[in-house]
Amino acid sequence: MEVPLAIDQVGRALDYTVADREVELNGCVEVTVGVRPYAALVTAVHGELTGEGDVGKLKPVRRVLSGALPTALVTLAQFVADYYQVPFGMAAGLITPADAAPAPDPTGWALTSGGRAHVAGIPPHHRAQRALAALFTPRTSYAINVAATDELSATQRRLLRDWHQAGWLVPVFAQPQPTLVLPQLPEFTPAQRDAADALRARATAFSVSLLHGVTGSGKTEVYLDLVASVLNAGKQVLLLVPEINLTPQLIDRVLKALPGVATAVLHSKLAAGERNRAWHRVHSGEARLIIGTRLAVFAPATNLGLIVIDEEHDGSYKQNESPRYHARDVAIVRAKQADIPVVLASATPSLETWRNVRYAAAQGARGDAYQYIALRERATAAAPSSLRLVPARGRRVKAGLSETLADGIAARLKRGEQSLVLVNRRGFAPALYCPHCGWSAPCKRCDAKMTLHQTTRSLRCHHCGAQSGVPSKCPACGHPELVGAGVGTQKLEAALIEAFPDARIARADTDSLSGKHAWRELYERILAREVDIVVGTQMLAKGHDFPALTLVGVVDADRALFSTDFRAQEDLFALLTQVAGRAGRHALPGEVMIQTEFPDHPVFHALLAGDYEGFAEQTLASREAIGLPPATRMALVRAESKDAQAVADFFTQAHAVLREALGDEGEVFAPQPAPLARKADFTRWSMTAVAVKVRPLAEALLTLRQAMQAAKPKVRWAVDVDPYDFG
Ligand code: ADP
Ligand code: ZN
Ligand code: ZN
Repeated sequence: MEVPLAIDQVGRALDYTVADREVELNGCVEVTVGVRPYAALVTAVHGELTGEGDVGKLKPVRRVLSGALPTALVTLAQFVADYYQVPFGMAAGLITPADAAPAPDPTGWALTSGGRAHVAGIPPHHRAQRALAALFTPRTSYAINVAATDELSATQRRLLRDWHQAGWLVPVFAQPQPTLVLPQLPEFTPAQRDAADALRARATAFSVSLLHGVTGSGKTEVYLDLVASVLNAGKQVLLLVPEINLTPQLIDRVLKALPGVATAVLHSKLAAGERNRAWHRVHSGEARLIIGTRLAVFAPATNLGLIVIDEEHDGSYKQNESPRYHARDVAIVRAKQADIPVVLASATPSLETWRNVRYAAAQGARGDAYQYIALRERATAAAPSSLRLVPARGRRVKAGLSETLADGIAARLKRGEQSLVLVNRRGFAPALYCPHCGWSAPCKRCDAKMTLHQTTRSLRCHHCGAQSGVPSKCPACGHPELVGAGVGTQKLEAALIEAFPDARIARADTDSLSGKHAWRELYERILAREVDIVVGTQMLAKGHDFPALTLVGVVDADRALFSTDFRAQEDLFALLTQVAGRAGRHALPGEVMIQTEFPDHPVFHALLAGDYEGFAEQTLASREAIGLPPATRMALVRAESKDAQAVADFFTQAHAVLREALGDEGEVFAPQPAPLARKADFTRWSMTAVAVKVRPLAEALLTLRQAMQAAKPKVRWAVDVDPYDFG
């Protein structure tokens, strides 16, 4: 039997023996590589091997994790391997259940064909085995329910587990009769009705619908209407959301709108056991609705009828480690394979999607599958919040807080309403410096400054995690007082506490909310109006709905205007639109204040005019002009090593190979130091390539991988296709 593993760039399969185990092609098993257990996919099953030599050295499979996965899912993993340039074994890890996790808790067990053969062959003197076997009769279709296992002795239970691990038994999960879902949705506005009809009209085959609605337009209700109808047709539905811990409200809303639907939630914070349970519930068909983050795009549903991607523009759909897949793009491939619809919902679609959908007509037959649906008005009477640009500089600016914004907050406090102040950075930045000589604390292992964390009075590097104490005087000149500079959530929080000593202030960033339930708790407190002012990072912008929140202040929007990341303005537009949607969603009118030193910047003009379309067209035109995505396909090659020369040597060769392989089909740019050129003592460089067409780029990258694997460079390196993170 062979299983593929991510042991090298190109990937090859390893052989294992399966003596007295029943394995299926495309099934999942647990094997050991070295000493570590891995969940692995079976890609070939050979006949009986006899003889000495190599066969005798093969390790046995440890246990059988599942029967065959749907072929379509294996094909999807193959797509990920090919498109994202990773070994198949790595992509296969996306579709297998977790390794080393306890077996799930099924409602019953069924004998496989191997299991039946085993049961038939149990000799009369094996009492425990016979007693267990007696529970499986042809009358009950070789199945046993879990209630019956309550009667089993400890020995029999152990046998049950062994038989399961041998692949003779498969867990069975309750298959409730699909009950009719009666969606609890408000009466639709005419625009919502039209949008829902348009979605339903394209629901029986592959299609990609962009549901583009301004915040508050009620697009969630529109896609839930389609979700209910697909569930009622007996199919499973996959709903992808950006970050599960940050979107409790959306999940509550979905569950309330679709009462009684068996739902599985899948995200990376689940413990292995929980994840396996959800995995099996999805695989068996028990779970009808699957809600999850990007990894859920690989959920083993066998009867999928619809994929919905909420906030399709969100950056969290792209995985930032290998395999660096984009869940939206994988979802579209999956839907195409399964011939089912995909709905992409957003107030600020990604330019990738905008270009695909708006210019579908120009794409020939492929374009037929795309449709654009706009919801241009709010579904409720709530007036849209008013947007204002306020000067960042002026009198009494404290910790980045302008006087205008401070006055706005004071007015809310007086009226018992809530304010949200958004910053784009963690901690104090840049850290600590000496006002006398300008020294600032560097990280010893990175080209970065240490960041001051006030709660712990420590310096931390956000790039490598290094920590140290705060020096009492300047190490360079001996000046006795070091000061914190720049705006950060903590500094802003401190300034707000000083300005509004009686206000109840909370901070929401990845430092303060590292616990699993921390965000949920803060969210409940805000909802219960136990907080007056919330300071936090973009995680606050996501899909929340706080009735008493009437002011949103954004203090460092300007950073994105001059970023080297070509998507920074697109992200800023999305963030500010989303954050504007957070204020004044109910009876109380909302106000958004964006502090800026550049009020004439086109991004702000488009934002104030609520003109996403103008912004998208203009940005797209400039991307076309300079040949950046989505006008081209891009790939990034990264390499790092503690040996700087090894990195240089790698790129000398890689650049030449890729150039040669890509030829006239695209362009390979000169290797550059990464923005963070040294991280944890590793020297880091990268190189980008662009091409108009997908296939020549993919082929050139494969050539590169094969060539560089053969060259055995002494660096860690990887390819990132459609990169979003250039750090
Ligand atoms: P979207 O789903 O477009 O992001 P929001 O969540 O921003 O919309 O806001 C929609 C709000 O309006 C929600 O509170 C939702 O329950 C409500 N809503 C949606 N459709 C209707 C409707 N037809 N009538 C009344 N309220 C609605
Ligand atoms: Zn100094
Ligand atoms: Zn560091």
